[in-house]
This record gives sequence, C-alpha cells and structure tokens, in this order.
Amino acid sequence: MNIEKHKMIYEGKAKRLYETASPGALIQEFKDSLTAFNAQKKGSFEGKGKINHQITKLIFKYLSDSHIANHFLSSIDDRHMLIEKLQMSPLEVVVRNRVAGSLAKRLGLEEGMRLGAPIVEFYYKDDALGDPIVTEDHALLLGVATRSDLDELKSKALDINLLLQKLFSEIGIELVDFKLEFGRNAFGHIVLADEISPDSCRLWDQKTQEKLDKDRFRRDLGKVEESYKIVCDKLLKKLGAKA
Ligand code: ADP
Ligand code: UDP
Repeated sequence: MNIEKHKMIYEGKAKRLYETASPGALIQEFKDSLTAFNAQKKGSFEGKGKINHQITKLIFKYLSDSHIANHFLSSIDDRHMLIEKLQMSPLEVVVRNRVAGSLAKRLGLEEGMRLGAPIVEFYYKDDALGDPIVTEDHALLLGVATRSDLDELKSKALDINLLLQKLFSEIGIELVDFKLEFGRNAFGHIVLADEISPDSCRLWDQKTQEKLDKDRFRRDLGKVEESYKIVCDKLLKKLGAKA
C-alpha cells in the first residue's frame, strides 16, 4: 500500500493515524518505537510494529468473534490496519488480575500478589499531567464521561478481561494486567479501540513467571524482541488459522 497517498493526522508514541477516502475509517500504522515513563525512556526494535499489528489483529478478531465491538476493520499490510474512526474517550481503562507496576508502587504491595477479583482503574489521558489515575467522581467532574458511560466502560473491560484471561491461559500465559482505550462511533456506541499487545499488557509465562511484555524494556531485562515474538507465535499458533 502506498501510505504516502494518505494524510497523516496524528503521530503518537507507538502509532500513526492516516485519513482515508472514507470519512468513517482511518489507517492505523504500528511503529517500531518503544517508549516508557511518559516517553522519557525511548527505544525500538526492527519488526516491533509488525509484531504488535499481528497480535492486535489476532486479539481484535478473537474479541469480535466473542461479540466485543472493536474498531478493527481489516489489515492492509503487515503494519497498517484499517480501523473505524472513533471519538476517543480520554479515559484509559486498566484491568488488573495481579498486583504489578503502579499499583505495587502506589499501595506498597508486593508485585505478583493475586487479586481475589479483578480491579478496574481509570486514568486521564493527558501527557502534561502524566496521565493521572482518576476516580469515577473525578471523571464526572472533568466531564469526560457520564455515570452510565463509566458503568459501560467498566463492564466491557471486565468482559474483555474474562475473554483474554481464557485465551492467554490456553497458550500458557498469565494476563497480569492491561490497558484499554475506547471511543464512540457514528451510531453513538462505545467501541474498543487502539491496540492490545505486549506494549499494553503485562503477560507472564505461566510456568516460569518470566515477563513477556514491555516490562522487559522498562526494566532493562533484555530479550525484549524475543518475548514479543513468543507472544505473537503462540497466538498465531492458537488463532492463526482463523486470522
Ligand atoms: P499516544 O497517543 O499515547 O502516543 P499511540 O502512539 O498509540 O499513543 O497513538 C495512537 C492514537 O490513536 C492514540 O491517541 C489513540 O487514542 C488513538 N486511536 C486509537 N484508535 C482510534 C480510533 N479508532 N479512532 C481515533 N483515534 C484512535
Ligand atoms: N499501560 C499502558 N499505557 C499506559 C499506562 C499503562 O499500556 O500509558 C498498561 C501497562 O503496560 C500495564 C497496565 O497498563 O499492562 C497497568 O500499568 P501501570 O498502571 O502499572 O503503569 P506502569 O507502571 O506500567 O507505567
């Protein structure tokens, strides 16, 4: 595909968005860059965009088959996908099954502690503020969601958690936590968007507890590329025939 023909409308840390001939669709390009700590730490590896495109595509198709509406329309090539254009919510929704990352830090809990029931958190997407965690009342105060939007976001996130926990456990991986983004489509429906990949999830090998996600980059653990590839290969083996 000749991407130069399309106007870039947004360049983010890990992806670019392009307009298409259709006002309702965008092209989402997956870049090779990796960032952490609000982009203070930067890196990349060749092929990372392709891997995250493949993983996101497999997962979004799996979620569509399970009746979770999402923005994926089709793959254009190995790093570009056609997506439904959405009015994005500035709230990021994080679901946690085990303590890790900012939850461990904020509450002084040991990383790895299992949670009796999943926890859902909202973060306000604002680079200048450092994407702060917000309560539901804060989100209402900011006017970025209604009570019913918050209920819907939470319920969709928990449904997605159940589906993804099942999928990953079938390939020997534990879903520790993950971040979702949602937007509203032209019909006013809330739809899952963005990406689901080792950039946005914590994924641990069920047997060895080895990290297979962006924490390898955040914490300089090495084998970043190998880990992303392991996740991709396992998903391809499990879901590839249907992709
Ligand atoms: P960031 O903005 O954090 O640097 P990315 O590099 O991942 O992140 O950029 C992708 C951008 O595309 C994000 O801001 C995300 O909210 C936005 N986005 C994802 N899906 C859609 C969609 N379907 N319609 C419009 N925007 C989207
Ligand atoms: N996450 C993400 N984007 C963000 C913040 C978090 O994809 O801007 C993901 C992160 O990879 C992890 C989960 O959300 O899987 C929870 O992240 P946490 O709040 O622990 O923050 P971190 O310590 O990873 O910055």
